[in-house]
Amino acid sequence: MLSYRHAFHAGNHADVLKHFVQVQLHQYMNQKDTAYTYIDTHSGAGVYALDSSFATKKAEFDTGIGPLWNRTDLPPALADYINLVKGMNPSGKMRYYPGSPYVADKMTRPEDRLRLFELHPADSKILAENFRKAEAHKAEQGERARGRRVMIERGDGFQSLKALLPPPSRRALVLIDPPYEVKDDYRKVKDVLEEALGRFPTGIFAVWYPLLQRMESRQFADRLKRLAAKEWLNVTLTVSTPGPDGFGLHSSGMFILNPPYTLEPLLREVLPYLVKVLGKDTGATFVIERGTQVTGAASARVGAGGTARQPIGNARRASPLSGTGSLRLPGQAAPARAEAAPDVRRPDGAVASKVGAAERAKRFSRADGAAPAAGEAKAPRARYADERAGTSGTRPERAAGARAASGRPVAPGAPRAAAGAARAPRKRG
Ligand code: SAM
Repeated sequence: MLSYRHAFHAGNHADVLKHFVQVQLHQYMNQKDTAYTYIDTHSGAGVYALDSSFATKKAEFDTGIGPLWNRTDLPPALADYINLVKGMNPSGKMRYYPGSPYVADKMTRPEDRLRLFELHPADSKILAENFRKAEAHKAEQGERARGRRVMIERGDGFQSLKALLPPPSRRALVLIDPPYEVKDDYRKVKDVLEEALGRFPTGIFAVWYPLLQRMESRQFADRLKRLAAKEWLNVTLTVSTPGPDGFGLHSSGMFILNPPYTLEPLLREVLPYLVKVLGKDTGATFVIERGTQVTGAASARVGAGGTARQPIGNARRASPLSGTGSLRLPGQAAPARAEAAPDVRRPDGAVASKVGAAERAKRFSRADGAAPAAGEAKAPRARYADERAGTSGTRPERAAGARAASGRPVAPGAPRAAAGAARAPRKRG
């Protein structure tokens, strides 16, 4: 099923969470000289025009990048991401928004490798065109082209991942960001991660996911917690209370396997800020939880709302794996009981943990003992099955594939004036 176009959702709150985390992961990878491979299993078009007919249809960027654009009080880590977006908008006007491949291109070094997969025929073409232009621009600036630095394939990212693991340098950052149009995507993500971890247990795998009422979504993070990665980190951002009709996307998460130790402190710094700026009502909140393979249960959990994670919908009831209980994997020793000392929110809005300093140091110390760093289609398909037709922001593909004028990024749905002549209308296969 290939009717999902990310152009309708570009720059929304879920993109902000995803791309902010992606920037942090690249920064961590860049701390070591050894080159790494960035693998994007579901790349999208790479660049999106926020003034395009696609993006303006529901103006989802107003829930994400929009309110952050002119802020002068950004936490430094968030500013790194915002500055990257601003870098592609030199006029200062918020016009283009980067997809994950563009973020990766900006954040990686000449010696790193990008392996990008996209199945949609129009978006994979646009993606390739964007990179061709970017390479041409770099060549004009005198940058030496690195032959196989970026490889773009129109193909199934789920199927293609295993062939790339382990990467030659034994360092990789993998982003898995499917449309979740069909519930099978949840299963595929788990299966592909299982296989990927078998081939390359030390890779950093980051998965974006929507938090919806549907069972697959509610149980998803809990299922990922049981994968055979040494550690996991789960962060969710909710911007508003879901309506009773289940329409729209109010909440999403990033689940990271083998997370860098630097990430959690940065999330703790930035997530309360995102809730403050992007939150629409009292349902706005965040959760940061971390655990190890041994229990699958959170060993540390912080939320904006108080003592315990507030599940979305009836997740706790529906998911036998949620909560603080320790489950054991076959063949594993009984784990020590996870400490359940809660974190509470102080009146000034800061998160204050009831955990003592020594205990906190233990919880947030690295495994190696070192201290942590401070820290469209005619009948539109919804990305999320909870959305109903007509609420996903999809629209006729007429303008899809519009090409940018020379030197400008290509963006799906970009208006002619801004992005050059649109190609003749094409019917989706
Ligand atoms: N990662 C992108 C970003 O952050 O800018 C957005 C990706 S979008 C959410 C998901 C993309 O996956 C869509 O462009 C869709 O066409 C593509 N897609 C769907 N199934 C796929 C598959 N099996 N393999 C590769 N791409 C797929």
